[in-house]
Amino acid sequence: MAAAAVVLFPVTSPVDYHRIVSPRLTIPTDTTKPIPVGLLSCQRDPLLHRIETSVVDVFPLQEGAPQKPPRKGAKVPRSEGAVLQIILHDTIIFPEGGGQPSDVGFISVGYDHTFEVFEAKRVGGHAVHSIRFPTPDELQKAQLLLLVGTDVVVTLGDDGHRRRLDHMTLHTSQHLLSAVLEQRTQLPTLSWSLTAYPSPCYVEIPRALTPEEVASIQDEANALVFEGRRVHIEVEELHADNVPGVARLENGRSAGKALPSDYTGGVKRTVVIDGVDRNPCCGTHMPSLHNLQLFLLPHTEALSRSATTSARLYFLAGPRLITYLTSTHNQIVRVSSTLSCGAPQAPDRVLQVVEERKAAEKRVADLESQLASAVAKELLHTVTQVTEERFTAYVHRNDDPLSFLGAVAWEFAELWTASERASKRYLIALTSSPTSQTVTSSTLVLVFGSEDASAKEVGERLKLELGVKGGGKGPRWSGKWTGVWKPAKEGELVGKVVRGIPV
Ligand SMILES: [Zn+2]
Repeated sequence: MAAAAVVLFPVTSPVDYHRIVSPRLTIPTDTTKPIPVGLLSCQRDPLLHRIETSVVDVFPLQEGAPQKPPRKGAKVPRSEGAVLQIILHDTIIFPEGGGQPSDVGFISVGYDHTFEVFEAKRVGGHAVHSIRFPTPDELQKAQLLLLVGTDVVVTLGDDGHRRRLDHMTLHTSQHLLSAVLEQRTQLPTLSWSLTAYPSPCYVEIPRALTPEEVASIQDEANALVFEGRRVHIEVEELHADNVPGVARLENGRSAGKALPSDYTGGVKRTVVIDGVDRNPCCGTHMPSLHNLQLFLLPHTEALSRSATTSARLYFLAGPRLITYLTSTHNQIVRVSSTLSCGAPQAPDRVLQVVEERKAAEKRVADLESQLASAVAKELLHTVTQVTEERFTAYVHRNDDPLSFLGAVAWEFAELWTASERASKRYLIALTSSPTSQTVTSSTLVLVFGSEDASAKEVGERLKLELGVKGGGKGPRWSGKWTGVWKPAKEGELVGKVVRGIPV
């Protein structure tokens, strides 16, 4: 029986992936000096997981000291714990650049000591790795191991490898997308963002695309993906005549990114997608478009600045696309299960539920209005039984919002004005508690009367005697009381206060 074939992910890039096109440029072999950013192992072979190299320089980062001179007016970030910075002869931990965030990984000395690199940044022409220690003592101990000249092993680790694969996939997809956009719609890419996982990334372009344009750009990009176009890197010495520039658009905005002004690595790097695109870039890129299935979110988000407008076109590819499809699929499954329908019926069913809810809300509002009027009429009816100069009443209800209590007060005031009792005075308190109460439940209190002063006086007494928190304006005072409301205790007290009986 034939052995089962196992297809493994290639661990290295093809030999012709990294091409040095200038005759005098070589990769430095002196291990006492760092290889400049542009020629690092992560840039020569982005599929490497592990390299052996040595320490060139190591220095503690002074707490709060910036790694680069801060921009004028920028805040200096303060690091937590003690940070050690290390420059290696070579590295597979990509220092952030070209819109691609930094890798994370590990530096190991011997078999026993492994340090986690939380960030690598380009400073001038070198990659500087940062390791954080909880205390300065632990940093000092690490310095005894990470001496200049020490042999170390650099790895990405599982999480670091996943992160890199995600970043590479999206960065190469961005080059492909920008190239197809430029060729098919003549729209330059003004900027792009490799957003934090798992959000969709985006390119910023001068105008929004139509849905037809989005679909055709996606088809065209994926035709190149299915072909599996190869990607390679061309590297040459950087000199005054070949510095990558930035195109200026008619509106004055710049398209793309120039070489950073503080870059001192002396290397010009061009990412080439065979027959599609050549673009200066320092990022790590997949050796081919295979498996880079590109998905464009089928809309563009328009942005407007003071003088110009632009739009964001969101895209996904690789592992992030699978995460996105999984999460959106799970969301629609949850929605359709709640609605007891199949996923394709969910949008129409949601629309129906929303319409039904609107109708139900209107019915509730109409019924509440009628109920408020009925409660007010009942109160007025009670008045006819009363002979005192001032009519007082207290009514407790359940689950009514303050707006309902207010509606009762308004209806009562209307009926009172129209009744033969208009010349008399009244003072009424309404309370409403939830049907099921706990110690954190709120009972609403509304006091209203024919005179501002008496409503206020009752409110102030409820504050004092019962601890109701509230306030009022004119003939109304409202508040909240927290706890389990008992009609025989708190209810009794409100009744007495309204009637002016001492408690
Ligand atoms: Zn790039």
